[in-house]
Amino acid sequence: MPIGLPFRMVETDPNLLLACNYWFGSDSKPIDRTYATSVFRCLKNDQIPQPLPLPLQQTQIDFGCSPCTIGNCCAQRRSLPPPIPPPTPLKILVIGAGASGLTVLSSLQEAGFTNITCFEASSSIGGIFRTAYKNAKMTSSSALTEFSQFPSNFSPPKMLSAVEYLAYLERFASVNMLQKFITFNVEVNEVQKLPSGKFSVSVSGEHIIYDAVCITTGLHSSSPSFPDFLRSAKIDVVHSSQIHDFAEKAAGKNVLIIGLGESGSDISLITVKVAKSVTISVRDNGSGYVVPRITGNEVSDLNTNRGRGRGETWGPSEHKRFAESVIAAQASDDDVALSKLSKIWTGKEQFSELEIDTIVWNYKNNALPYNRFGTKNTSFLEALKLGARIIGEIVTLGDLPSGTDLVICCTGFAASKGELVVGADINHRNRWRHVVDLNLGPMISFVGFSRPAFGAVPPISEMGGRWWAAFLRGDLEFDVAAAAIETQEDKKYEESLFKKDFHRLKSLVQYHRMMKSFGDLLGVSPPLGELRKHHKGIYERVMRSTLSGAQFRLVGRFMSEKAWKTCEQLPLPQHERMPRSAFNGVMNECCQF
Ligand SMILES: Cc1cc2nc3c(=O)[nH]c(=O)nc-3n(C[C@H](O)[C@H](O)[C@H](O)COP(=O)(O)OP(=O)(O)OC[C@H]3O[C@@H](n4cnc5c(N)ncnc54)[C@H](O)[C@@H]3O)c2cc1C
Repeated sequence: MPIGLPFRMVETDPNLLLACNYWFGSDSKPIDRTYATSVFRCLKNDQIPQPLPLPLQQTQIDFGCSPCTIGNCCAQRRSLPPPIPPPTPLKILVIGAGASGLTVLSSLQEAGFTNITCFEASSSIGGIFRTAYKNAKMTSSSALTEFSQFPSNFSPPKMLSAVEYLAYLERFASVNMLQKFITFNVEVNEVQKLPSGKFSVSVSGEHIIYDAVCITTGLHSSSPSFPDFLRSAKIDVVHSSQIHDFAEKAAGKNVLIIGLGESGSDISLITVKVAKSVTISVRDNGSGYVVPRITGNEVSDLNTNRGRGRGETWGPSEHKRFAESVIAAQASDDDVALSKLSKIWTGKEQFSELEIDTIVWNYKNNALPYNRFGTKNTSFLEALKLGARIIGEIVTLGDLPSGTDLVICCTGFAASKGELVVGADINHRNRWRHVVDLNLGPMISFVGFSRPAFGAVPPISEMGGRWWAAFLRGDLEFDVAAAAIETQEDKKYEESLFKKDFHRLKSLVQYHRMMKSFGDLLGVSPPLGELRKHHKGIYERVMRSTLSGAQFRLVGRFMSEKAWKTCEQLPLPQHERMPRSAFNGVMNECCQF
């Protein structure tokens, strides 16, 4: 089996050293160019390269830890991971080369599989980020979105543009040599499970048989969803996924934006600067819980962490009391009270205008974190300041604001590509962990169909992919009866958590719980007690910094030094919102509302 070179890589490629580091799992010290060149030549001739020279392998890093019992971690971190036995050969297909497809390919490769193919309908990797609208920006930070073994190296973490994240995915594919698996411009038309348990995959009229198939076609790859009443509209109606440059499209027009999710929020701000007028129509049950991308000077999702999942999380009464206090202090121009409240919320002396707008908006919408989908984007609040206006839900053509000449539907997508697979349930929630359709069994998986209220899609895809690769290797068993019970329990939990959004957003999950459930199954959840005792710095970051996927490589068979370093380098949030236990005392002291 050819080993293969990183895509288009040549001897002078600056990625060569990096690729060698990753190939040998050593990033403690850069590998020298002479050694990298010898590796390059071996790979080019399909020969196995010689192992790393010993001194490089044994480079020692002082993490300042005390000796501990975490699987001999201090010793293991100085050496390569133990070799893993080869799995039973399987012919595996991955469909789609977006973020999810790439991480599944990487996990399969890491698990030792070689007979892997990926069909991608378009001509390049990156999925939705290849075609996103101009100036699109992510709403999860680089630290939260990056894959566990591939730090994005932005310090401090930032909200990447779609273009920057696409470049990250291209680097990930190149360094992990994933392009050799991918065939572009091939759209899969249908997947059918055969009585033998294998899968027949239909591509351009041809049927190819695979032992295992992973669907990573994305939440956005189905038909754009348009409200029914617009079918007979005589005006220009477009979907958020269909236009690249919305400023150009909306210039001088009376624009109606339907929907106030992430894209509706962004597009309202892009268009309000150039359009004659912008009106935003919001469903009657309001928007999600709105959070700015940046709070204070740092990315808001630094607070997506384990600590938040514990006693520190404010309940509805704390949120309500806090918001009412802010509204009252603002109405009475009480700068002293506002400053005290700002310190509780942001750690700063004064709220920004946008922060107050956000608190008021959430209060008026009765939106709380965890009871609603998170809209990690306050662009629409800025758009309102620049003259956009909000109206309620529109259900007939007669409700359209008069003079509307462009409708932009930010209304999501009709259904997932579950229908690509004969007999599959297209409701992600009916699948075990959104990954396994219990009627079809675990030899076919669906990865990338979990969308967290707060968190990021790619790391959940990574954990799903790691679980599937471990299952295919035979490391884990799958008990259909137990999985059916777990699926019902997950559904009940999600319904109680996301009351308002549960029936509409069938991909919605709680990020921490989803990540941890896979971590526990794989035996790679960080042992918090041991970390606390022996690795205080790492423990603090695992608990209080962003819930980075790297923490699921601190222990277990795929433990890596890179992950220890990544965790260690995560910043801690500058400001921790006050724990629930202390909240009422401080509120009684500082505000008399
Ligand atoms: C503007 C914007 C900003 C976003 N920001 C964030 C963010 O900050 N954080 C976050 O976590 N998520 C964000 N998202 C969500 C984002 O969609 C997902 O994180 C990401 O796309 C998941 O990747 P994926 O591989 O599952 O799906 P996709 O990116 O949709 O990739 C699916 C791939 O499958 C291919 N494909 C589909 N059907 C077939 C077929 N039949 N045969 C062959 N190939 C096929 C497609 O061509 C595509 O390349 C954002 C989305 C948008 C639009």
